[in-house]
Amino acid sequence: MLSSSALSYTAGDAAVPLLDETIGANFERLAARFPDRDALIEAAPPGGTPRRWSYAELNDDVDRLARALLAMGVAKGERVGIWSPNCAEWTILQYATAKIGAVLVNVNPAYRAHELEFVLKQNGMRMLVLAPTDKNSDYVGMARQALPHCPELRELVFLPDHGLEGLAAGIPEDDSESAYAGLLELAEEVPASALAERMAALDPRDAINIQYTSGTTGFPKGATLTHHNILNNGHQIGSLLGYTEQDRVVIPVPFYHCFGMVIGNLNALSFGAATIIPGRGFSPAAALQAVQDFGGTSLYGVPTMFIAELALPDFAQYELSTLRTGVMAGSLCPVEVMERVIGEMHMRDVAICYGMTETSPVSTMTRAGDSLEHRTSTVGRTMPHLESKIVDPASGETVERGAIGELCTRGYAAMKGYWEQPEKTAEAIDDEGWMHTGDLARMDGDGYVVIEGRIKDMVIRGGENIYPREIEEFLFRHPSIQDVQVIGVPDEKYGEELMACIILKPGAEALDEEQLRDFCRGKLAHFKVPRYLDIRESFPMTVSGKVRKVEMREEAVARLGL
Ligand code: AMP
Repeated sequence: MLSSSALSYTAGDAAVPLLDETIGANFERLAARFPDRDALIEAAPPGGTPRRWSYAELNDDVDRLARALLAMGVAKGERVGIWSPNCAEWTILQYATAKIGAVLVNVNPAYRAHELEFVLKQNGMRMLVLAPTDKNSDYVGMARQALPHCPELRELVFLPDHGLEGLAAGIPEDDSESAYAGLLELAEEVPASALAERMAALDPRDAINIQYTSGTTGFPKGATLTHHNILNNGHQIGSLLGYTEQDRVVIPVPFYHCFGMVIGNLNALSFGAATIIPGRGFSPAAALQAVQDFGGTSLYGVPTMFIAELALPDFAQYELSTLRTGVMAGSLCPVEVMERVIGEMHMRDVAICYGMTETSPVSTMTRAGDSLEHRTSTVGRTMPHLESKIVDPASGETVERGAIGELCTRGYAAMKGYWEQPEKTAEAIDDEGWMHTGDLARMDGDGYVVIEGRIKDMVIRGGENIYPREIEEFLFRHPSIQDVQVIGVPDEKYGEELMACIILKPGAEALDEEQLRDFCRGKLAHFKVPRYLDIRESFPMTVSGKVRKVEMREEAVARLGL
């Protein structure tokens, strides 16, 4: 065993025991305990008037949909997809599928016809529940197009549009299509006892959810997660946030991603807390309005969402004093932003969560009372019941504390595998059960983890491992540099050479390669001094706001003729 504190290994505590029940059983237990408390509020549906469910009401609606799905003949383990922006029916379907043991497949609302068809076929989806067509996406049209090409897909179910402006829910045209309201009517055919029987036949270790990872290359992979994985991850996060039935959690992050459906729904609803949906997509004003109108105690977002909320011209007019906590995840939070979130949004206990879809998702988290420094430069410590270690990517050996390597996670949160891709699963999870995250990180003496970038971004020049972030941080000190990304480009002699891609400050003096090298000389080891310089106006970004270094590398190779 790795027990030496000098090595980069930590195990989380086990203060709050893991739950050993299915998602459906857990929800019924909470609904029986807190029947009259708010469970779900859709703050601003397209029709305008908020929609609300108490725990008892939500449980009734979940059961009605669950019985309707049984009436359709949906079997345990069959895949039922949801393709919709956030709405109350998303949550209702999440719990209804969990109660009957159908595997919910989260389909990214930004997908287009080609991606939809790939996902439908990859998991042999049987039923797809989809949003009404809106100004961004013709969900109905694209699903109809895909249907004939997906032999296992038998039913499309159209969600109501609740008066979405000038646009409409699909009108069923044949037997393969139904409206959500029509589907619900089928519930009458199935007695409550049939649902209870199905629930009793489920095991918490069954797969219950597939989430496709957004990988920047290749086809998406379907991370397959069990009740045990995601219910417990949600519940452990809530324990660290100190959630009780008094909490009211405002969720402007998408449900199709684990941030919304696990850190949001499964977490809050396992404590008797309320979940509040500010709107279908993210709007900074709608998020703050929902906090104000419904007394939010906790608010979620990636750092750019908090930045947008703080930048609202009427930010000071919102009443946010009910807030006490929240979750920020996805990327590092700048210090000034964290200071304002704590000071001006009253989120004194806001936590940083780190993780990935494949680990349900959260594997490290800051704790209430952690310093500002810990909440801005680290992603906290290992979650309860999980283990973390940092290994040398080449040898697989655990590295000393402070040294950089690949972060690995083990324990209850590791996914079952990638849906029908055993080779890909074996590449990600080793024989000892460690999930290799592909993230570079280091662990300090107290077990706090610092993320250093993606392993794919690491540059190997003449046998030396170079971590771009170190050089980027150094170059940030140059007075003319506004933003910088360091990448590796192919080189015959050294394998790879460094290129600094730089956005200059407005009005800054021009910078050439020789001046850049002068700036580095004597301050960086010779092999870390960039050979090439690329002055640019902007960096290519992914939809989720991550810089696409792969694309910059391809551009550089083409431009330099390497
Ligand atoms: P996804 O599977 O889409 O949730 O993406 C997971 C990836 O997001 C991780 O492997 C990290 O690279 C990154 N990530 C997640 N949380 C954080 C965080 N708190 N700080 C920095 N990077 C993060």
